[in-house]
Amino acid sequence: MSAYFAIIGSGPSGMYAADALLKNFPNCKVDVFDKIPMPFGLIRYGVAPDHFKTKNTARQFMRTLELDQVRYLGNVEIGRDLSVEELKKNYDAVVYAIGAYNDRELGIPGENLPGVYGACAFVGWYNAHPDYHELSPMLDGGNAVVIGIGNVALDVCRILAKTRTEMRGSDIAASALDVIQNMPIEEVHMFGRRGPVEAGFTPKELGEVRDLERCAAIVKAEQIPNKVEGDFEGREKGIKEKNLTILRELAAQRKPEKSVKMHFQFYASPVKILGRDRVEGIRMEHTEVIDGRAVATGQFFDIPCCSVITAIGYHANPPEGLPLNRATIDNTFGRVRDNMYVVGWAKRGSSGTIPTNGPDSRSVIDLLIEDLNKDGATLDKPGGRTIDKLLSDRNIRVVSIDDVKRISAAEIANAVDDHPWEKFTSINDMLAALN
Ligand SMILES: Cc1cc2nc3c(=O)[nH]c(=O)nc-3n(C[C@H](O)[C@H](O)[C@H](O)COP(=O)(O)OP(=O)(O)OC[C@H]3O[C@@H](n4cnc5c(N)ncnc54)[C@H](O)[C@@H]3O)c2cc1C
Repeated sequence: MSAYFAIIGSGPSGMYAADALLKNFPNCKVDVFDKIPMPFGLIRYGVAPDHFKTKNTARQFMRTLELDQVRYLGNVEIGRDLSVEELKKNYDAVVYAIGAYNDRELGIPGENLPGVYGACAFVGWYNAHPDYHELSPMLDGGNAVVIGIGNVALDVCRILAKTRTEMRGSDIAASALDVIQNMPIEEVHMFGRRGPVEAGFTPKELGEVRDLERCAAIVKAEQIPNKVEGDFEGREKGIKEKNLTILRELAAQRKPEKSVKMHFQFYASPVKILGRDRVEGIRMEHTEVIDGRAVATGQFFDIPCCSVITAIGYHANPPEGLPLNRATIDNTFGRVRDNMYVVGWAKRGSSGTIPTNGPDSRSVIDLLIEDLNKDGATLDKPGGRTIDKLLSDRNIRVVSIDDVKRISAAEIANAVDDHPWEKFTSINDMLAALN
């Protein structure tokens, strides 16, 4: 008898889960659902457009979606087009891989002023995500502020600072590139409430700001500690040491000829967004780190800016019927309840790179197998047939893997200049390309 599995979300964690299921159940059928017509989650809509090689990891996942045992059902949102209960009833196991890409709030006055954007929206905008293509961010002044000291914050600063020539070969949305290139940018400030040792960025991404065409990184030498102190060991400690080396190198650089300055500002926490009808600046408070925690000092300073972009972490947004526990779907090592499981960022929160999701998804599939091997467990669900009927009755235009290839071909045909393709920015445009 075949086993029928559903995976909700075609980002890295969902695709690694599909691979693990296929390896362990050679005769199984796997239906992979995604609310967006085009697959692969943050590979398409999160990874920076100038990190084009990273985006190529999608190729390996494409091979999985092309297998006979696998069906891709794009443009199907669970919670809107199908319910959690319907999936639970029809599949032997359902694996939720819906990510956790909804912005966490700063919780300070002025946060709702026009000109404040979460990284999820801002990154989605320049990556042509259908939910954010109409963002139209206010990049009309010389200064922008980015809150956060992780790789996403670095991505945002770098994309703002790069020239059009440096963005060649990237898959940034053409309209976003125009807005960014027209910004009269002079300064981008990246703020972290803790210090360089606690920063979440990695040496490769940090090193990329060394030789930008028009932008110099400004680091205060006095903010860089001599060594890594705290509870860090092994690989993590090595990463932190490399970060400090690069930061020291940046602090020693003098590049007055560059027109854009990227300020790395540690030990400062936002307390208020300033402005009447829109963002005009931000009030920051100096902090000090005590036992790894940022502690306020009562000393404030203001920075004028036209926009503030926050990159301070994300939370999951599960469909009705799934429990939320702070930022993730409530789970025990990936088990949710009954025949439902969770993997990836929706399981463990918004941390880890694409490869991190591999072992994580495999560990959850091991538990799923353990559960299916228990006495009394049966493989008796009908699989996708009833689901197909429900989707057809509800007039949902399900996007298949062949449709994905056709949309991709149209995007490649729409490419301008040296860009590999021009992504459609709305679901309607994607579906129109199929007519
Ligand atoms: C801005 C940014 C840049 C990054 N850059 C890098 C990088 O350069 N290198 C790297 O290795 N890692 C990078 N990462 C991390 C990497 O993207 C994540 O580790 C990875 O994408 C997490 O995978 P996931 O499958 O859990 O979630 P996601 O990739 O978010 O996939 C979730 C999928 O679920 C779908 N979905 C959500 N809700 C529903 C629903 N209700 N119904 C149906 N489908 C749904 C979404 O459309 C999406 O396709 C970056 C992350 C961010 C945020």
